[in-house]
Amino acid sequence: MTDFLDVEIAQRSLGEMAPRMKILAGLMPDYVRELEAWQAKAREYGRRFVRPQALEIDAKCRRDPRYFDWDLIRRAMPYGFLSMAIPKSAGGGGNLTTTTAVVLEELCAACSGVANVFGAHGLGISGILLGFDLYHVDRSLADVVESEKRGEPVIFAAAITEPLAGSDVEDAGYLRTAKLMTEARPVAGGYRLNGRKVFISNGSIAKYSSVIAPLDRTRPNETMSAFLVRAGDPGFSVGRVEEKMGMKACPAAELIFEDCFVPRENLIGLEGDGVRGVETVLGASRGPVGAIATGVARGAFERLVDFTVRKKTGGRRLFDQQWVQIRLADMARRIFLARQAYLDGCMTFDFTGAPKLMKLFASRMLDAVPSHVRRHPLITRVLRSATMQRTTRRMMDERLDENDLHHIQQYSSGAKITGSDTAMSVAYEALQIVGLEASLHRHELEKIFRDAKLTQIYEGTNQLNRHNVFINLFPREAGHGD
Ligand SMILES: Cc1cc2nc3c(=O)[nH]c(=O)nc-3n(C[C@H](O)[C@H](O)[C@H](O)COP(=O)(O)OP(=O)(O)OC[C@H]3O[C@@H](n4cnc5c(N)ncnc54)[C@H](O)[C@@H]3O)c2cc1C
Repeated sequence: MTDFLDVEIAQRSLGEMAPRMKILAGLMPDYVRELEAWQAKAREYGRRFVRPQALEIDAKCRRDPRYFDWDLIRRAMPYGFLSMAIPKSAGGGGNLTTTTAVVLEELCAACSGVANVFGAHGLGISGILLGFDLYHVDRSLADVVESEKRGEPVIFAAAITEPLAGSDVEDAGYLRTAKLMTEARPVAGGYRLNGRKVFISNGSIAKYSSVIAPLDRTRPNETMSAFLVRAGDPGFSVGRVEEKMGMKACPAAELIFEDCFVPRENLIGLEGDGVRGVETVLGASRGPVGAIATGVARGAFERLVDFTVRKKTGGRRLFDQQWVQIRLADMARRIFLARQAYLDGCMTFDFTGAPKLMKLFASRMLDAVPSHVRRHPLITRVLRSATMQRTTRRMMDERLDENDLHHIQQYSSGAKITGSDTAMSVAYEALQIVGLEASLHRHELEKIFRDAKLTQIYEGTNQLNRHNVFINLFPREAGHGD
């Protein structure tokens, strides 16, 4: 890398990269300072450890899609990325989605495959966090926190997609006609889980998977629920690991359930609350996916700038030629807009959405009652009781009105679309300008180009996210499936 890049681009703080953060720093200095501190940590890990290895890991995964670089993830343990969203009172960083997004942009500027390990983990734990399931906070999430302190990663996955149902499982409007294969039949003491999930990021390396499945496939909207399944549980196995085009450092695997017994306590939240859960989780995660894509675009931009500084045509650096300057300016403009879109999406969620509720009462409960007391069997019974779960749900409903939900969905889907379209267009143009050199596997832009495309597909295709903006903009008029 050139000195130019080091000084002019890669050293910029969030306040310099996003004017709204500079303005906000006057109003909420601690909040912005903390965001910048996380940004600096992610930048250090990305630049020091991730970027130097990104191409090599990509090549290893091309040879063997099951390859996973545990050492690199272990190096992230002192930074606290796996526990950053877990409430402080449970030992985590207590951060909301904006912080996660800022971290993901930084990591993605280094390698979006590695970043996706942390992103998919965040998706996996968010069902527990947003369902305010204190029982699981004190067990599986405590395991994440404690293991991270020991330097051992404990990773989550979120299993929603099925072989014949992708977008349909993510959207209540399409769920009724979805071809679902997975079902969790109630039995004495728990559930029997049967079926398959596919393309599950972290699926082959996760200790815990949050699995979405209906209790009755003929009534998915009414019975969809979430379950926690552990690696090694009898009846649960990992099938194919996909040879996907990009983000290879994060394996996408098939999960197979054959009469897998899930004890009742491993239900996350309430029975039948799965549709609401998926919608809330995706409302929370699409902003950070916008950040992932913004990071991919920024990574492409930075590599292109680097190239234009080194490359001369007609005796002049490309960087000094006006046609290149105009292209670079236009790419930077799109990246600024993508960053604004994800900050809007995440802050809408953080300030009007479910995390606000978590701050209001779940965290208070965590603060007020120490964890050894919370783990007492009697307290556990109370926390797990249907009355407690219903009270939690009612409090959520009272605080989060329909308008809040529509806003969250609109802005988070908007962020996801804006970021991913920017990632694709910037990577495409950068590759075109660099030319032959960038067509080789050994060039970072070739990898970034493959990574960029995936951001338009996952977390709901961009087509479905566009429709999501529409139905939340016109909630009364909009229909589904026409
Ligand atoms: C890299 C990667 C990582 C992933 N990680 C995970 C993960 O961790 N967990 C997980 O559960 N899933 C994961 N997925 C799956 C991802 O969420 C799905 O790919 C995505 O939701 C789209 O589903 P699909 O590909 O099955 O498309 P489909 O739903 O089959 O759609 C196919 C086409 O039809 C269109 N379409 C579908 N329904 C409609 C409709 N009603 N109206 C109009 N058009 C429609 C779509 O836009 C698309 O063009 C991952 C995917 C990728 C690529």
